[in-house]
Amino acid sequence: MAGYKSKMVEPISLPARERRERNLERARYNVFNLPADEVFIDLLTDSGTGAMSDAQWAALLRGDEAYAGSRSFDRLESAVRDVMGVEHVVPTHQGRGAENVLYGTLLSDAEDAVVPNNTHFDTTRAHVANQGAEPVDCPVDGAHDPDLEAPFKGNFSLERARALVDEVGADRIPLVIQTITNNSAAGQPVSVANTRRVRDFADEIDATFVIDACRFAENAYFVQQREDEFAAETEIAEIAREQLGYADAVVMSGKKDGLVNTGGFVATDDEELFERCKQRAILYEGFPTYGGMAGRDLEAMAVGLREAVERSYVADRVEQVRTLGSLLRDAGVPIYEPVGGHAVYLDAAAALPHLEADAFPGQALVCELYREGGVRGVELGSFAFPDAERPELVRLAVPRRTYHREHFDHVAETAATVLEKGRDVDGLEIATEPEMPELRHFTAGLEPRSEER
Ligand SMILES: *Cc1c(COP(=O)(O)O)cnc(C)c1O
Repeated sequence: MAGYKSKMVEPISLPARERRERNLERARYNVFNLPADEVFIDLLTDSGTGAMSDAQWAALLRGDEAYAGSRSFDRLESAVRDVMGVEHVVPTHQGRGAENVLYGTLLSDAEDAVVPNNTHFDTTRAHVANQGAEPVDCPVDGAHDPDLEAPFKGNFSLERARALVDEVGADRIPLVIQTITNNSAAGQPVSVANTRRVRDFADEIDATFVIDACRFAENAYFVQQREDEFAAETEIAEIAREQLGYADAVVMSGKKDGLVNTGGFVATDDEELFERCKQRAILYEGFPTYGGMAGRDLEAMAVGLREAVERSYVADRVEQVRTLGSLLRDAGVPIYEPVGGHAVYLDAAAALPHLEADAFPGQALVCELYREGGVRGVELGSFAFPDAERPELVRLAVPRRTYHREHFDHVAETAATVLEKGRDVDGLEIATEPEMPELRHFTAGLEPRSEER
């Protein structure tokens, strides 16, 4: 049950059906083009879209906007030490800023480098590639199977990584990344045992080990629930500190488990790496005691990190996502199982079996969810990943501390109504697309494949 109540509210409403139809046309069947005001329940992303607590809002007023030596930076540093157990912090404007600082530093002279990760998140992949290195995904078998029940489908596959070493040689792998939870594999958790094994692997090949800790608190909650060596009463922060403690550096987007609307950081115990990151941060982010953030935002994130590991918060968070999954499952909607930490993923291929991949079943489902109920999700299938062998998924991400059970009832009813339409749901085709196919789902325009009817 939610361990909070509302103190401030934002009105939302469901636009009339004709208006939703017109909005879809105007948006060229790409929901990134919809004005947020025209969306009733917005499950596009959980990134920076959550509600801050009264303590966080109060902390904003304490913000010390000094250019150098800000008190607010000290408070963030203390929070990172207490909650995550890491000594040094370089604040950045958001997670990708931290990736630029860290991967730009670690991969600066790594010609021909190859970087394994359980699964690279989009911006991670782009930053690794931007340094001239090759990102390689090493998910465990079954990570992309929507029907396999297993506790830690987000794990890093040591087998795949060892095969990579055999193929390219250890010398070409200066860096190993583990993403917790595994955002691009349906938000599935990573076990502490797996993190330990990745640490050993990195030592064997003399590589730096980085944890992408965006959802470290959600991951720790899953560990506490599912990993035998951790007792039910173990503190969430204790698990987080153990898991993060195996890494040489941590990269963080505050928009996730920092419980803020923007912000991020790199954290490390390694003095030399810290110094190098600071230099790059000055170039791209700002002086190291504010990075890319205002003093007040440093304050809000310092409070948010502490709240993120409170059991009452994180248990409610993960269970709320699970509830949305159960409502959808009970309404007969095929979903990725088990439900992950931040989102429920719909299996669009199973939901709309009459549509082949080239008719973009995921995007068709996304458009119908909006048409039927003003619900906005995002396609993560053949529209978003043109060249990858990926299941046709639609992600319904849950903003933190924002929606309630009634909203989820509406989402499940909407999805069930769409499924009843069955073969009446048209496929889509691309009408206009940007130059880079990897970024096409943000801006491409589509149209219904009406000739099929
Ligand atoms: C969101 C995210 C990032 C990037 O963070 P931004 O704050 O969006 O720039 C990096 N890695 C993972 C796993 C993420 O979920």
